[in-house]
Amino acid sequence: MREMLSRRTETGGDDILSRRIRVMGSSPLFYDEPLQFERGDGVFLYASDGRRYIDCYNNIPGVGHCNPRVVEAIARQATILNVHSRYMSESVVAYSERLLSTFAGGFDRVMYTCTGSESNDQALRIARMLGSGKGIICTNYSYHGNTAAVDAVSPLFHRTKHEYSDVRSVAYPDSYRPLNGLEGEALAEAYLADLQRAIDSLNDTGVGVAGMIFCSIFANEGLPVVPPTYLERACAMVRAAGGLIIADEVQSGFGRTGTMWGHELMGFVPDIVTLGKPMGNGYPISALITRADLLDTYRDRSFYFNTFAGAQVGVAAAGAVLDVIEGDELLANARSVGDYIRDGFRRLAAKHSIIDDIRGCGLWIGIELVRDKATKEPATEETARLVNQLKDDGILLNRIGEFDNVLKMRPPLIFNFGHADDLLAAVDHRLSCL
Ligand code: PMP
Repeated sequence: MREMLSRRTETGGDDILSRRIRVMGSSPLFYDEPLQFERGDGVFLYASDGRRYIDCYNNIPGVGHCNPRVVEAIARQATILNVHSRYMSESVVAYSERLLSTFAGGFDRVMYTCTGSESNDQALRIARMLGSGKGIICTNYSYHGNTAAVDAVSPLFHRTKHEYSDVRSVAYPDSYRPLNGLEGEALAEAYLADLQRAIDSLNDTGVGVAGMIFCSIFANEGLPVVPPTYLERACAMVRAAGGLIIADEVQSGFGRTGTMWGHELMGFVPDIVTLGKPMGNGYPISALITRADLLDTYRDRSFYFNTFAGAQVGVAAAGAVLDVIEGDELLANARSVGDYIRDGFRRLAAKHSIIDDIRGCGLWIGIELVRDKATKEPATEETARLVNQLKDDGILLNRIGEFDNVLKMRPPLIFNFGHADDLLAAVDHRLSCL
């Protein structure tokens, strides 16, 4: 992904790219030849030249681009009321009750924000107030957002050494390129030993442990297969050190994994869950879910108010998203279409030696591309080329992971078997030309 962020510096000319650079600088762009879209509809995006693209990448429009039910809910509420959260509102309270009812595990408080970064920023503040120390543990290839505090726990896009006295990063748990070539319990032990070192280091330096933040499915790390027992034992170790567990579900939430929440699938119960991206299908609304004992104490001891968060229009969008997820049975769709895509990639793997590990859950699909299956040498350049070629074929996806060699697909949850066939055929065609 890093090299995909086109950083063209030309400023001459009247084309949109030059004009954009003149006013927005080198703000990140996808693809060697960036795209300009005019319209979205369901799983499709339509470019300025009229070409149609199947969107296998964007997880924000979880119920489809410009979903008419969400659009209608936003438009209707915008004509009625949109006011900040220091007044009472039936629709906001009712949505909060409904959202909390989708969680198991004793979660009974919601707090609204406008971005995933803000949700994580608040989660860090809660952990630093109520944990036994100030130190936060993250993984070495994580991304949790863009505020100063959150950036400090997001080493993924940092090219330089990323060190903070109150942050420790640990190796992300991975069964494909395992630490010291270990397997099973021994592998889990090795990753847990690394976590113990981070806990000890925070304690030895007098910082102490506030908590650990990680994406429930380690999406930005490349969706690794987590060694059995790691998560459960990691949570216990952090809690024993006085820390809270923050599950970042900005990517893995709202049905992406075929379960409503990623931590359900992964079998652990966090103390705080952070939400964002698909919550309003593109309308900016996000939240933090936790327990009364944590949030009520935090609210008593600090002040949190957010001008735009939890206002009625965002909540209307979010309510319509839940209506569509539930009414159109999108969790089941994510499971069946996601499995179908992974099966398709398994068939392609028999034909194309570059395809190795096939990972994922629901409609989050990660495909490890390697030059050599024995050495697992990452096919980083080939993956970059493939992503650009598939764009030329009308398929949008991307790549991620430590070596940027994992094909990354997270289409809207309304993706169907026909769309999956088109995706698989395009990948097959391009790999046949390698
Ligand atoms: N957490 C994760 C796991 C993310 O992937 C992202 C965004 N890519 C964020 C947090 C930050 O969300 P936002 O851009 O809405 O601030």
